[in-house]
Amino acid sequence: MHISYTCQPSPDAAVNEDFIVAGERFVIVLDGATASGLPWGCEHDVRWLATRLGGQLAGVLIEEPGLSLVEVLREGIVRTRNLHPQCDLTNPNSPSSTVAIVREHEGRLDCITLCDTPVIVKTVDGVVTALVDDRTAHLPAYDRDSLSRLRNSDEGFWVASTKPEAADRAVTGSFATSEVQSFALVTDGISRLVDRYGWSWEQLLGTLEKQGPEQAVAAIREAELATEPGTFRGKRQDRGATRPNCGQAHKALTESQQLTAPRSCSAPDQAGHRPKPLRHPRGNVHAATKWLTRWGDS
Ligand SMILES: [Zn+2]
Repeated sequence: MHISYTCQPSPDAAVNEDFIVAGERFVIVLDGATASGLPWGCEHDVRWLATRLGGQLAGVLIEEPGLSLVEVLREGIVRTRNLHPQCDLTNPNSPSSTVAIVREHEGRLDCITLCDTPVIVKTVDGVVTALVDDRTAHLPAYDRDSLSRLRNSDEGFWVASTKPEAADRAVTGSFATSEVQSFALVTDGISRLVDRYGWSWEQLLGTLEKQGPEQAVAAIREAELATEPGTFRGKRQDRGATRPNCGQAHKALTESQQLTAPRSCSAPDQAGHRPKPLRHPRGNVHAATKWLTRWGDS
């Protein structure tokens, strides 16, 4: 497996709140949630949470290879909680992060995403499947008090923080490794090319494969600079960003593999919640011939 990525800090970012961990057979991408400014009962910051959680998840994946990714995520949150027992772990504003994991195990490529970091998988027949947890796109309100109330609740959205049961609300999928041609883990900074700017998942994955993550980052920045501030409504406008459409996190990770085998992927499950994994009937990129993993970030 060949892994590569790009990380381009946002001009607005004081500190990078994203984190990536990659091993021989897994990749983890975390996008730390910008602090709301409300008291959060924790002496640590978002970057601490994202890096510690990423480290714990990697440890679980290495030490417990037989666990499902839901179990991995749950255990990772538990272990991260144990790193700061002195903090108020009941505070709903405690630092949090999205999580996406792709893991190869016993011939399967397992995927999980919790909150705003889609996983895109292309199989050898050209079909592109996007695993998306889009609860945050359907909230009744986006002011910080509402987000505090809705965070990690079935009325709102789930994110990795202090509640292990968040893992049970994640969106998961699994594919035969032999049938996977390429995949990507993208934070919402990249996936908004699809959500806001009319790209297809196939187009995004194709760009990552052929032109690299830098091109995807350049495309989103160009699109955002051409967009009037306030054009898009949603959480980003209320999460402390000074410019709603600029300076967001951009991160993408893709892998490609030359393989030839029939396809039979399992349907993602989602614990009966709003996010709907998207299936696109036909991809439009041809087979890649080597592993490629790319990641962009700001
Ligand atoms: Zn803490």
